[in-house]
Amino acid sequence: MQDVLNIPGLKVFERGWLSANNILLTDADSSTLIDSGYVIHQQQTLLLVQNALGSRPLDRLVNTHLHSDHCGGNALLQSNYPNLITLIPPGESRAVEQWDTEALSYEATGQMCPRFGFNGLLSAGQLLQMAGLEWQVLAAPGHDPHSVIMFEPQHRVLISADALWANGFGVVFPELEGLAAFEEVSQTLDLIESLQPEWIIPGHGAVIKGVDAALFNARRKLDGFIQNPAKHAKYGAKVLLKYKLLELNQIATLAFIEWATQVRYFKLLHQTYSPDISLNDWVMTMLRDLEKSKALEFHDQLIVNI
Ligand SMILES: [Zn+2]
Repeated sequence: MQDVLNIPGLKVFERGWLSANNILLTDADSSTLIDSGYVIHQQQTLLLVQNALGSRPLDRLVNTHLHSDHCGGNALLQSNYPNLITLIPPGESRAVEQWDTEALSYEATGQMCPRFGFNGLLSAGQLLQMAGLEWQVLAAPGHDPHSVIMFEPQHRVLISADALWANGFGVVFPELEGLAAFEEVSQTLDLIESLQPEWIIPGHGAVIKGVDAALFNARRKLDGFIQNPAKHAKYGAKVLLKYKLLELNQIATLAFIEWATQVRYFKLLHQTYSPDISLNDWVMTMLRDLEKSKALEFHDQLIVNI
């Protein structure tokens, strides 16, 4: 837990990579949590919030976007805090209402997210009062077309979700579908630069002081992807494999490959970039790459997360 700039009422719960960071903002009027982590950590998320709030209820839950690592704790928080107001970014309200797990990416990524409801939508330009400060809601398409970020101009604090991390940004999911979105990533980075944040609370990783190094890293990474989209596709595939392995910790190699061959994004990436080899072989190539980068190990018949 980090107290950014010692802003009273702002707490960052820095989580592992499987769960997005959670940010708790409290003042005399209300308490708000931004993002709720992945489902297998939902109890931990609830405990972090309960310990910080004590007897006080959580009033509001805000999602920067609806990837499973950002809203997997929504359902449990909603059942524990019956008066909780949940606000989601615009653009996916129908998918949430109908719980369309394909549109919400949980099917396509092979990830899990318990069904939750919502009470209202965030919109670009909206102001949210949190921790006694006024936060601007800004559209940040790229990693996810519907993602928002939040900026507090007085202390120049940016909640950047997966639009900007210390060493890059989240996989550009529309690009995995063949939809051009690198330009949107670039525009979102320009928007962040124009805000000149002094502090960045990313969706994953530690709080960042200053924006220049992070922007430099992100733009360099983006340039590499623009020049070679296959590199981004491999990155996306490996992130999704590693993410599942973080969830499972270890699994029989054959079962893991079997799981991967059922997941739409893997099928799509294989068909687009490596149709000359079998899907099983392509998955194995990605796993060997992850082994080389020490993200996993093969033990007899098992794949083990490291
Ligand atoms: Zn995300």
